[in-house]
Amino acid sequence: EYVILNGDLIERSEAKVDIEDRGYQFGDGVYEVIRVYNGKMFTADEHLERLLESGRKIELDIPYSVGQLKQMLAEMIKRNNLELGIVYMQFSRGTSPRNHAYPGADVAPVLTAYTRETSRPVESMRNGVKAILIEDIRWLRCDIKSLNLLGNIMAKQKAAQSGCFEAIQHRGDTVTEGSSSNIAIVKDGTLYTHPATNLILNGITRRKINEICRENGVALEESAFTKDDLLDADEVFMSSTSAEITPITEIEGKPIGNGSSGPITNKLQNLFEEAIEKECGS
Ligand code: PLP
Repeated sequence: EYVILNGDLIERSEAKVDIEDRGYQFGDGVYEVIRVYNGKMFTADEHLERLLESGRKIELDIPYSVGQLKQMLAEMIKRNNLELGIVYMQFSRGTSPRNHAYPGADVAPVLTAYTRETSRPVESMRNGVKAILIEDIRWLRCDIKSLNLLGNIMAKQKAAQSGCFEAIQHRGDTVTEGSSSNIAIVKDGTLYTHPATNLILNGITRRKINEICRENGVALEESAFTKDDLLDADEVFMSSTSAEITPITEIEGKPIGNGSSGPITNKLQNLFEEAIEKECGS
């Protein structure tokens, strides 16, 4: 199994990072997860653009273009014979003696990437999953896809301990996003999703869904909604690269709508599937 360390494709067992890598010590870096269907990356440009943008937001200069990154990843996918799964890629700010302030320009970012085989979550996409509600205790730059995920993992762990799949976060009354997903609700035929502000990660899946809504006459409002709106919604779903569009059919023990996946969610799932087939083949 091959991985990428800086520019090189090497055996995983050969890949070593320093204990003073700033990603390891501070969570100082940015990352992406891209899905692979039929051996091809889905929405790779969007993910890699977002990676460069996350880097710019923390003054981490990624010394590659989208095209170069895509080529490197495609080569790794091919070498590993990955048909269905994900690619993980991260840049840390590099290795230097521990100091909170950024190191000088002589310190290069450290790139690591690997592939993982994973199937699509067919069962949960069909039958839905349960979620808890939890106060969003994260920082105010959730728009950056940062390696610092303590707030997210603590929320997910709480969900897991409650026998649930996702934790839906809220700041006061306002629902923001899941621990590793965006959240949308459907009420009276309109889809509502939190606007792409500093309080959420602007998911690539979320953007694709919004585009699908606009092209297919599904009413869409990128406006924030409350916890009450959420519990009172006709349909709720989470979206992410790994979960695609997964219905949430129960929140805090209460069924959403009639407790099963709803018609707009199903319609969006079908159109999303078409988008995958169009880009990656079937
Ligand atoms: N929000 C958070 C906090 C995430 O970690 C993720 C991704 O895993 C998402 C939203 C969804 O983003 P994407 O659709 O780009 O995977």
